[in-house]
Amino acid sequence: MMKRQNFSKKREAILRTICETEIHPSAEWIYHKLKPEYPDLSLGTVYRNITKFKDNGDIVCVGVVNGQERLDGNVMPHAHFICRKCGSVLDLPKDFIPEENENKVKEMFGHEVETCALMFYGICFTCVKNSQSMPELSK
Ligand SMILES: [Zn+2]
Ligand SMILES: [Zn+2]
Repeated sequence: MMKRQNFSKKREAILRTICETEIHPSAEWIYHKLKPEYPDLSLGTVYRNITKFKDNGDIVCVGVVNGQERLDGNVMPHAHFICRKCGSVLDLPKDFIPEENENKVKEMFGHEVETCALMFYGICFTCVKNSQSMPELSK
């Protein structure tokens, strides 16, 4: 009985952690964040729960950065920007995904669109700023 309760507590904590942050965490980030509070937590448990949450539609995977899946508790369609320098996954407003494109997919190809993911890649604002304020080393 005790064990079961502890199990669902961890489950809830994993989901809460994903939904409470805007950094689009990886499984390992969640593991390190919760480990102090749940010392018997294993990375395998985190991965297993993430798979279940994804199957249930509670969370979505928005992309893979440095070999790690990045997760989003916001399941409404919205666009993302991935920084190749610092690995940040940043939200962009929904209107970056043009709705008329979804209609075109149906009209032109006959596919039923359920959701849409749009990803921009590059160097984020913070990294651009940091590289500009860096002292010149080449001279
Ligand atoms: Zn960056
Ligand atoms: Zn997002």
